[in-house]
Amino acid sequence: MARSTRPRGAAARGNAVTPAAQQVSVWEDDPEPGIQVARPLPDPSKRPLAYNFPGRAPAPGGQPGTASFRYWTAAEALRRGADFWAPRMPSGNWELGARLPVLLDQGVDLNAYYDRRALNFFHGPAPSGTVYSGESPDIVCHEMGHAILDAIKPQLWGAASHEAAAFHESFGDMSAILSALQLQSLRTAILHDTGGHLYQSSRLSRLAEQLGTAIRAQHPDAVNPDCLRNAVNSFTYQDPINLPQMAPAVQLSSEPHSFSRVFTGAFFEALAGMLATKAADCSSPTEQELLAASQDMGDILVAGARQVPVVSNFYAQVAAAMVSGERRQEPRIPAHSQGRLRAAVDPVAASGDVGRGAAPIGCGGGDCPRSSDRPDRRLGYGCPDGRAVWSRPTAAGRVAIASPAVLRSLGSRGCQLRGPSQLDHRRARLCR
Ligand SMILES: [Zn+2]
Repeated sequence: MARSTRPRGAAARGNAVTPAAQQVSVWEDDPEPGIQVARPLPDPSKRPLAYNFPGRAPAPGGQPGTASFRYWTAAEALRRGADFWAPRMPSGNWELGARLPVLLDQGVDLNAYYDRRALNFFHGPAPSGTVYSGESPDIVCHEMGHAILDAIKPQLWGAASHEAAAFHESFGDMSAILSALQLQSLRTAILHDTGGHLYQSSRLSRLAEQLGTAIRAQHPDAVNPDCLRNAVNSFTYQDPINLPQMAPAVQLSSEPHSFSRVFTGAFFEALAGMLATKAADCSSPTEQELLAASQDMGDILVAGARQVPVVSNFYAQVAAAMVSGERRQEPRIPAHSQGRLRAAVDPVAASGDVGRGAAPIGCGGGDCPRSSDRPDRRLGYGCPDGRAVWSRPTAAGRVAIASPAVLRSLGSRGCQLRGPSQLDHRRARLCR
């Protein structure tokens, strides 16, 4: 494949000086931009969050296109990403245990995945030759993000919920972005490329450019024009139940990778706002300030994901937890950057009438309208009693949704409701 190889010098790296013999050359973020950096030789088996690469490690020093280069690029990115997340994961273990297997070439497929047994990567055809998904730091840190979230929130795994599945994909992309920002060379380059205004399409927001090119050659509409997915996008929240199951990349669908872009976009906008707030000179933020913003956003994201229940409106729950800062003193997402997390992720979140803060709902009598049971709604009712009522907009207008426990309570008041139902919000009465 046609790889551009533009090594960055030691001065551009700027990280702690490591003897050349202990360094290894790797891709900075993805093979398609093709920018190499010299990094300290990683130790995949280092705890916490150790990895297990089967077989003997190849000697470092291979050039792009060799198995050695692929191995050390993957190992360096995975070590860097895990080192970023580890302080936010007290257990220090993966969901499956102390060591996560990494299988760098499982055969022919333009794909990669985490399956609770290993990180699995593949190779496949592209117009310029063969591409290896395990050679992209963007992709390996996305898959590692699945494993991180699985360790933080194992109950999300396999949850039959559009938003739970999409949040897993979004967390993978957010993991790729935050892991990339742990490289000083990349922080400096992105600030230069964007003029310090982070919320614009850049190498940071464009994820997995090379795999995107390979997939686009076979399925022109399946991915973005210049990458696999872009964290800078204009997608706003819609109830995934009302979206098509599949759609071209320019449209939003309920397919998890597609729908993930809503949350990732809101997160990226909040990250940009965090940087602007932290910068002593907001017109010229420094790479140290960008590093601090990435660390704060990692803290906020993990805290938000950890504390909310797995419910059907998981996006709004996490977004509300992230912007509320409840249970945390610092850091906070600045108010001017909360808007998209609040409103774009779920318009109802902006009203505060969501999740833990939602008021129990009563009803005025025996005339509560009912709709047919919605199995997809039923899946998410995991809130404590009395708290599992929240409202959501739908095509039919704003409705409120109650948990079975609350509905039993309402039934005792003569509402005659049986099982999960939707209540007409305008005809329901809030009672605290
Ligand atoms: Zn994924």
